[in-house]
Amino acid sequence: MITKKKESPLSFKITARDKRSRARTGILKTKSGKIETPYLIPVATKARIIALNKKDIKNLNIKCILANTYHLHLKPGDKLIKNSGGLNKFMDFKGIIFTDSGGFQTLSLGEAKRTGYTKLGKNQEREKMILKNEKKPSFVKITDKGIQFKSVYDNSLHFIGPKESMKIQSNLGSDVIMAFDECTPANKSFSYQKTALTRTNKWAVLSLKYHNPKQALYGIIQGGQFKNLRIKSAKFISSLPFDGIAIGGSFGESYGDSKRAMHQIIDWISQYLDDRPVHMLGIGWIDDLFECVSRGIDTFDCVHPTRIARHKQLYISLESGGNKENKFTIKIVKGRYKNDKTKIDKNCRCSTCKHYTRADLYRLAKEKNNNNDYAKLATIHNLHFMLNLLEQIRKSIKAGKFQKLKKHWLK
Ligand SMILES: [Zn+2]
Repeated sequence: MITKKKESPLSFKITARDKRSRARTGILKTKSGKIETPYLIPVATKARIIALNKKDIKNLNIKCILANTYHLHLKPGDKLIKNSGGLNKFMDFKGIIFTDSGGFQTLSLGEAKRTGYTKLGKNQEREKMILKNEKKPSFVKITDKGIQFKSVYDNSLHFIGPKESMKIQSNLGSDVIMAFDECTPANKSFSYQKTALTRTNKWAVLSLKYHNPKQALYGIIQGGQFKNLRIKSAKFISSLPFDGIAIGGSFGESYGDSKRAMHQIIDWISQYLDDRPVHMLGIGWIDDLFECVSRGIDTFDCVHPTRIARHKQLYISLESGGNKENKFTIKIVKGRYKNDKTKIDKNCRCSTCKHYTRADLYRLAKEKNNNNDYAKLATIHNLHFMLNLLEQIRKSIKAGKFQKLKKHWLK
């Protein structure tokens, strides 16, 4: 086992702490730039943020993105990206790039496709859809050596184990990479989660062995919804010389309780986390952000802001009618917005809100042929809204007012 800490390609300095929770601010720095944390990392699955161009990304002042190892390995291929000089050059993006390990696809292309079980328990809409179309076969086959994936593009077979994941991520040239892991769904039994965790822990050690030392490597805590497995995983992963720690996997058995289960899980493991940066994989609703920040999470990645924008859901603050029940969003295609000449959100200073009303967005969202305009405007608003919220959170932690801000939003 590797116990000696290497010189890290990442530096993380904690700059302020909240007195009444584990919330903290910090500066995370790599060769490509720095971000102030807590930070919500926009997702650029296939090395682009859907609906945005380079200028939009610059105007939004996005300093860090997360790209997907599985998808880029298949298309356009990690070797092609390596030959282009790595992801930063390939995307023409000057900022920090995270990549995931490919392990999430064991869930998204496996059980989630087959039965509708996702990270946060059973997704009922997806389940209904699956029941209607009959269950689909899984796209993955898991063994102790790694995972055999079927390509979503042409059904060809691809094997990714810890060594392969490290090689692909090295070719991608991202700043921060993730150890290869099995992301399990919430419907699995204790004995399955235990076996999966043994695999993930072995792969964590192999990821340390095979990763490119010029890249910062995060170990991933798994263990499903089981307390002793989560603690075991947290102890093991934090005992290894990773540059940062990530929390992944499934959290709860039922969709309704999954949020509380997630908070509970972070509470169980928080005492095993140290001053290394902590990343929460794939979480990003507004109430989750507050709950995770108060439990010491430094960075998040989430497709929500961009995905829900395209699904006609736009963020609004409390002052514009947002609350926990409506998830701080409005569905812009509802009839009531047809003649609504107000801004999407009263407090938002994004370029969309500067020039367009709710009625404008309603009209664009309803248009069948020219939906690119809508998607771009909506994505800009949602990303700006979230980046701004995280800025408010950072300011509040520094000013000793985080609890007040959290209470204000989650009342
Ligand atoms: Zn806006």
